[in-house]
Amino acid sequence: MDETTTLESIDWSRVNPATGPLYVEGAKPGDTLVVEIEDIKVFDRAVIVVAPGFGALPDKKIRPTVKILKVAGRKVVFNDLEIEARPMVGVVGVAPEDGDLPTGTSGYHGGNMDVALLTVGSRVYLPVFVEGALLALGDVHVVQSDGEICVAAAEASGEVRVKLSLIKGKRPKYPVVEVGDRYSIVAFGKDLDEAAYRASEEAVSVLMNALGTSFEEAYMLASLVVDLRINQVVDPMKGVRAEVPKTYVKLEHFLHYTT
Ligand code: CA
Repeated sequence: MDETTTLESIDWSRVNPATGPLYVEGAKPGDTLVVEIEDIKVFDRAVIVVAPGFGALPDKKIRPTVKILKVAGRKVVFNDLEIEARPMVGVVGVAPEDGDLPTGTSGYHGGNMDVALLTVGSRVYLPVFVEGALLALGDVHVVQSDGEICVAAAEASGEVRVKLSLIKGKRPKYPVVEVGDRYSIVAFGKDLDEAAYRASEEAVSVLMNALGTSFEEAYMLASLVVDLRINQVVDPMKGVRAEVPKTYVKLEHFLHYTT
């Protein structure tokens, strides 16, 4: 693809190719697969696109446009602007519970989460639904902001090094991302309201586990300490995360599902 490539449509069954599946020895349904992102190497150019009908502003009459972005060290060059690179992985997922899902969408299994937090040093806790987990990764972005407003990020080829481990016999409901002093529940929905509902519901449930309190107490506390943030508003499933500070919860409080 170059800047003269015409772009009439985006086929969600073909975008966001992921590498895999990787069979993880010992992984069984009901376990948690821990994916620690150790390194992301990106190549020296990235691509971003816009097309009518896509992104946060799908009604706008726009010309399909492709832009090549130079990646120079820790910077992405956009015209005469230099943007700090923050390489991340858009797609991290396991095989879903039933059937097949395209790698353009997201769900309980992870998938095309497009969470800007999935960068070097973060850990993703994924529920395992099938033997071997069947992990796939892809869709490297050199930089993406929350929302992924135009439908694309600085999309690039790259190499990702991960360390895998298993937590046996318990799993989270949704993928959980650990970075810094927070755990983030990565929820999804057909719209942002549904995604925010799911993220909030699970955050309250986790706080109830952690504190051993009633729903009402945990619901109030969530208002004080949990941040809801938008992952992206542009994929077939919209994404909202609930960020819970480690001050109030431990990892085990998220892993309260058994299959
Ligand atoms: Ca993506």
